[in-house]
Amino acid sequence: MSEGGAERPSGRMSQTPTDILPYEQLLEQEDLATRVPGRTLSSPAKGLLVSVTLMALGVIGLSGGGAQTSVGALVNLSPGIVWTLPFQLFDGPPVLGAPVLALAPPGQTQIQDQYLSLPLVQRLQATPDVVFLRFGLPNQSKPLGLSTLSCILFKGLAGSGLEEVVRPYTPVSTNAEIGTFTLLVKVYPDGAMSGFLGAMAIGARILATHTDKNVKEQYPFAATEVAMIAGGTGITPMLQALQALLGNSSDTTRVTLLYSNKRESDIIARSTLGEWLGGWHDRVRIVYTLSREPTTSSWVGRRGRIDRRLIEEWVPPPSANVLVFVCGPDGLYEAFTGPRQGEYSGILAEMGYAESQVVKL
Ligand SMILES: Cc1cc2nc3c(=O)[nH]c(=O)nc-3n(C[C@H](O)[C@H](O)[C@H](O)COP(=O)(O)OP(=O)(O)OC[C@H]3O[C@@H](n4cnc5c(N)ncnc54)[C@H](O)[C@@H]3O)c2cc1C
Repeated sequence: MSEGGAERPSGRMSQTPTDILPYEQLLEQEDLATRVPGRTLSSPAKGLLVSVTLMALGVIGLSGGGAQTSVGALVNLSPGIVWTLPFQLFDGPPVLGAPVLALAPPGQTQIQDQYLSLPLVQRLQATPDVVFLRFGLPNQSKPLGLSTLSCILFKGLAGSGLEEVVRPYTPVSTNAEIGTFTLLVKVYPDGAMSGFLGAMAIGARILATHTDKNVKEQYPFAATEVAMIAGGTGITPMLQALQALLGNSSDTTRVTLLYSNKRESDIIARSTLGEWLGGWHDRVRIVYTLSREPTTSSWVGRRGRIDRRLIEEWVPPPSANVLVFVCGPDGLYEAFTGPRQGEYSGILAEMGYAESQVVKL
């Protein structure tokens, strides 16, 4: 994914020393406790309970999990498709806690259209190449105040020519978080901005801005069925949407997430997704698909990229009740929606989804 207008960097941004806190400390933070208004978060034990109950009903079979410690609960619902059911034992502690509904209308965020310098206040290594970053806000007594499906832009200087680099990032925290906001960032070894973010020390600062152009669909979404087509870091706006969809105990919207990654180890926030899906399996389904997982690995889920057939299989057909959110690398937009900042075209248009039913995030 890249933001239109942002120059491609010729090199990395200047780095600062790393200062990575142990992952476990995250769970000791009271503000990340798994409290949720209206509905309690499922625990791994509850996920197991759901699995065992369904096994007793003859619905599923358990099979060995991946390279990590997970055990996937799988069911063959149609020939050729293996659907990872929304409950599993977890590959680590969840990063985000329970989903929370904490809305703010557009235009009220603490980060406005002038660049602000924000300090990094906490960092944790979520997976080998994904960092959980928490930034401090100017007003410590207020939340970020970001509306749903919105991103912020970070700016820095890269390379020997110090060219300007601007990249969008979608906070995965909600407005229940006071004085700070959090991001999940995948660090690319040669990434200008993500390399810098991945190496930021506590107290180091980054320039951030946000404009109306960075605001997309607002919750409550005008649909009874929401489909999410996500690739790699494109999961972050989907997590933001899920915070609202699942954090509202009276919401009945059904959600189908098609989530594509190269390898199993690339799946971002898998534990959190497992927790959320475990607690809301009546409303949420997820299909993981891996495009470059070694054939010798123990992955038993779907392989290959998201394609038209997968959409036909899982996404409700075009109707006024359906919204499709899309976020991922440039190629994902080009295939399904046309370029992120270009005209609507591609597979979803060919399948009959109207432009008004498809949201390019
Ligand atoms: C709306 C939106 C929200 C986003 N939110 C987040 C977020 O919350 N967290 C997050 O980590 N990222 C997010 N991104 C992606 C982010 O904006 C950057 O594109 C990403 O961090 C890479 O920037 P970079 O400067 O480090 O890499 P660049 O210097 O631009 O690229 C360096 C190399 O990194 C690799 N690379 C870069 N981007 C991708 C990609 N998307 N897929 C595969 N390989 C890639 C390629 O090998 C590329 O050659 C978002 C993008 C969009 C459009």
